[in-house]
Amino acid sequence: MNASEPQVFLVGAGPGDPDLLTIRALRVLQKAEIVMYDRLVSDAVLALVPEGAERIFVGKASRRHYMPQETINDVLVTQARSGRRVVRLKGGDPFIFGRGSEEALHLAEHGIPFEIVPGITASMGCAAYAGIPLTHRGLSKGVHFVTGHMAGDGELDLDWDRLADPDMTLVVYMGLMRIDRICRNLIEAGLPTDTPAAAIQNGTLPTQKVITATLAKLPGEIIEADLSAPTLFVVGAVAAFAGTLVRHQTDDCEIRKADQV
Ligand code: SAH
Repeated sequence: MNASEPQVFLVGAGPGDPDLLTIRALRVLQKAEIVMYDRLVSDAVLALVPEGAERIFVGKASRRHYMPQETINDVLVTQARSGRRVVRLKGGDPFIFGRGSEEALHLAEHGIPFEIVPGITASMGCAAYAGIPLTHRGLSKGVHFVTGHMAGDGELDLDWDRLADPDMTLVVYMGLMRIDRICRNLIEAGLPTDTPAAAIQNGTLPTQKVITATLAKLPGEIIEADLSAPTLFVVGAVAAFAGTLVRHQTDDCEIRKADQV
C-alpha cells in the first residue's frame, strides 16, 4: 500500500438497510482486509464483507461488557500497522453520536492516514422509512439532534427550555432508557402534552416498528409495546405524518397509532 493512501476507512454503515450504504462505502467495504464493526451494523450490511476479510467485533458482547473506546482505538492502530486495509464500520454516520471523531483523532495522533466515509444517520433513515419529514414548511423550522444517553444514573444535561420548541423537530438518539424523563422534562419546559411523538425501533430494517402517541402518552406506549434498542424518537408536529408519507406507497410497515396525533 502507498504510504499516503488511507490505511483505515471510518465508514458509515447507515441505519440497517444495506441499500442505504453509499457507493463509496460499498466500494471500500468490498476491498476490506480487516473489518471492525459493532452491534449497530446490520447482518445485511455484514453480508457484504468479502469472504476473505477478517472480522473483528468491537461492540457490546453481552449486557455489561463493552470493549472500552481506548481499546478500540488501540486495536485500530495495531491493525492499521499490520499493513492491511482496515474498514471500521459504524452504524449510521461515523460523526453523529458515533465516536468516529475520537477514533479519527487517535489515528491522526499516530500518523495513520485515514478516510471518513459518511453514512445515512439513523434519524434520516428512520424518519424516511417511517414516513416522517424531519422538516416541513409551516410545521418545523429545523431539527435538534440530541442524545438521551448518560453514563451512570445522572441527570441528562440538556437545555430543555431550548429543546421544548414547538416550531422545531427534536430527534433523540439513545433515549430508550430515559424516555419517561425526557418527555416529562419537555412538558415541564412548556411543550404541550399533545405534541405528536414517534418511536422507531429497528428503523429501515424488515423488523421496523413505529409507534406514535402524544408526548404525554409515549412512555407508557413504549412499555406496552416492549420496545428495545435501537430505538429513535422524533418529537414535534411532523411526527403526526408517520405512516402517511411512507417510503413506498405500497409499504405495509408496522405502525401503531396509540391515539390521535
Ligand atoms: N452513528 C449512529 C448513531 C449511533 S448512537 C447514526 O448516525 O445513526 C445509537 C443510537 O442510534 C441508538 O440508540 C438509536 O437511538 C439510533 N439508531 C441507530 N440505528 C437505528 C435504527 N436502525 N433504528 C432506530 N434507531 C437507530
